[in-house]
Amino acid sequence: MLLKRLLPICLIVLVLAGLIYLRQPQTDGQVSRTALIMGTVVDIRAYGEDNKQLEQAVTKAFEEMSRVEQLFSSHIAESEISRLSAATESLSLSPEVIRLLQMGQQIGADTSGAFNMSLGALKDLWQIEGEEPHIPSEQELSAVLKKTGSGALTIVDDKVIKSKADLKIDLGGIAKGYAVDRAVSVLRQAGVTSATVNAGGDIALLGDKQGRPWRIGIQHPRQTNDLLVTLQLKDQAVVTSGDYERFFERDGIRYHHIFDPVSGKPARQCQSVTVVAADAASADALATAAFVLGPDAGLKLLEGLSNVEGLLVSADGKLMKTSGLPE
Ligand code: FAD
Ligand code: MG
Repeated sequence: MLLKRLLPICLIVLVLAGLIYLRQPQTDGQVSRTALIMGTVVDIRAYGEDNKQLEQAVTKAFEEMSRVEQLFSSHIAESEISRLSAATESLSLSPEVIRLLQMGQQIGADTSGAFNMSLGALKDLWQIEGEEPHIPSEQELSAVLKKTGSGALTIVDDKVIKSKADLKIDLGGIAKGYAVDRAVSVLRQAGVTSATVNAGGDIALLGDKQGRPWRIGIQHPRQTNDLLVTLQLKDQAVVTSGDYERFFERDGIRYHHIFDPVSGKPARQCQSVTVVAADAASADALATAAFVLGPDAGLKLLEGLSNVEGLLVSADGKLMKTSGLPE
């Protein structure tokens, strides 16, 4: 009871802390700031000689991520994506939103439908991330699956046509990566040559760290305080999808937020998938898709794409990797 009362207060404090960008002590040649955006802790670190320039660039990068959130969030009623979900037939959208929807559709096609942006109604039914998650009956699942289906969205010029009026769009598996890419782009435009942007496991790296690659620790999906591996990367994105952050357990079964679009249930074959790619939006969507496909088909998918590498942990804890990653 007490916990229930304290929870809203804790949330308000967190949001306020986010709004004023929890400032950490800055050292010369480095600016590091954290904010709460898209329901996720976002951390930006920029390195260079001019701290004032770095400060301004980091501020602009956070502003850009908030702008992206306003466009794509299904938690914001006026966002273009919420308006598309509410539309019954069709809606004209901005070129930027059309581009990300097209990219998501392409990745959906390339992954045999494992990546699917039409699962909004399913997400609402399960409430995995809500206070009262719900395990749906088979009947509820088959009813809600009728409100999904990536084929129900057609894009013609700036118009998105829905063949199902109650189809609800959810870009939770790609827009966070896109926001991270936009932040990097803004930092680069502001003259920054060395930076990291991390939005809750969606990481993009700008340049390197003083001539050396960045060392990125990938969390072990079952041992909270352990790393699975450390990757050495530069000028790339690395994104992890896992079943260990947004989940609940009932009767010893773990229910998490990455759905198999066919069954409408949490995908069961992986514990985590990490994808390294040129940009975070692709890495984000591919990690979600490979997670759904499972370790064998997921590995095959990632191995077949150029400039993409991946690490997959199967449901029984086996680690698999694409051939381009070092042992
Ligand atoms: P990923 O594996 O990258 O994605 C999982 C997410 O993708 C799921 O949560 C679901 O949204 C979607 N998904 C599930 N299955 C599939 C599938 N088969 N194909 C495609 N997509 C799938 N969280 C909050 O708590 N509050 C907020 O206000 C909030 N605002 C957000 C605004 C934006 C623009 C975005 C992008 C996210 C926001 N989120 C918010 C976070 C969101 O709810 C997800 O938790 C987050 O995007 C999941 O990212 P991930 O890296 O954990 O998992
Ligand atoms: Mg993802």
